[in-house]
Amino acid sequence: MEAKYDFERKFREQVLKCSRCGFCQAHCPVFGATLRPAYNARGKMLILKEVMEGKIDLNDELIETLFQCTMCANCFTNCPSGVEVAEIIKCVRRDMVNIGSCHPAFKGMNEVLKKYTNIYAEEQSEDFNRQRNRQAEYVFFIGCVGAYREEESTTATLDLLDRLNINYTLIDEVCCSGVLEDVGFQINENLAKKNIERILTTNASALITGCPYCARTFNSKPQYDELKDKGIKILHISQLLKDYDFDVKTDMVVTYHDPCDLGRHCGIFEEPRQTIRKITPNFVEMPHNRMDALCCGAGGGVRGAYAKNSIAMARRRLQEAEAVGAQVVLTECNSCVHNLSNAKLRRQKFEVHNTTHFIIQLLEGK
Ligand code: SF4
Ligand code: SF4
Repeated sequence: MEAKYDFERKFREQVLKCSRCGFCQAHCPVFGATLRPAYNARGKMLILKEVMEGKIDLNDELIETLFQCTMCANCFTNCPSGVEVAEIIKCVRRDMVNIGSCHPAFKGMNEVLKKYTNIYAEEQSEDFNRQRNRQAEYVFFIGCVGAYREEESTTATLDLLDRLNINYTLIDEVCCSGVLEDVGFQINENLAKKNIERILTTNASALITGCPYCARTFNSKPQYDELKDKGIKILHISQLLKDYDFDVKTDMVVTYHDPCDLGRHCGIFEEPRQTIRKITPNFVEMPHNRMDALCCGAGGGVRGAYAKNSIAMARRRLQEAEAVGAQVVLTECNSCVHNLSNAKLRRQKFEVHNTTHFIIQLLEGK
């Protein structure tokens, strides 16, 4: 039978490789929050198989199932057949957008980025009282969540860079727009060009991002190849900070949440832990860590489209922090900080911070 959709042409073998073993179920945050087998990787692959067999068409009724995926890739990590579920789902979402079946929140994101320079449709971000667009060794790229929703954390990060005498500049950044590929659209070329032009103007040798997803986008998307072609290194801030000492310690019990974009997707697990171990002897791991870390529930457009389930996923993660007796949950992603903080129950007294924010609090004796 001739393939009707692009996902069949690209991923037919992958979908058929799913043996229905169900090993992915225990690792899927969407299943964990909803207990709906149709929403885990196996359920999604079964539906796509039926689409390939011509038994059903992609349509609005499948939005709920196929758009509810955080792109965390935990299924792939635990799949004996190596089914690349997140990549398949991304392609299916493109097919669905092409036939006009798309979650309104995802469509909204694409529309917003045609008119605005950030995913929140804000007119202007805080200026963080720092110089912009100047010549410097590094560009620090904040990212939308850090610039518009987690400003306190971003200010702390910049304060830490200042204390370490790191020669950086901010730029008039615009959304990297990587998230659009997750939700069925293309990276916005206009935005990419603006970022590239503004980064190159600074003559920086490296681009440091506060957001793991921005780092992934700059490192892996062809629209940003020019940066690497011009010899600009792209690093997440945790890769820079691991080489510094902070001259501060705490006795608090600290745990670390691996953001999916930094951990499973970029393989950066040890650098954040190196930094945390320098500041506390009381570091504890949660049962699910590194490649097996539970997702915070914010990715893949799920926080915007399925807020209730997204919070339920974050709560599952926080239960683990509570169980290991953490007083502080550190992470390396503003999106994770945002979702985990919003999900925290009143009885849960621990704090959730980016590592930079926590270090600044210790240095300032708070
Ligand atoms: S673990 Fe892999 S093969 Fe097994 S059901 Fe899940 S996606 Fe299919
Ligand atoms: S990528 Fe994550 S959310 Fe999506 S199906 Fe796999 S485990 Fe579930």
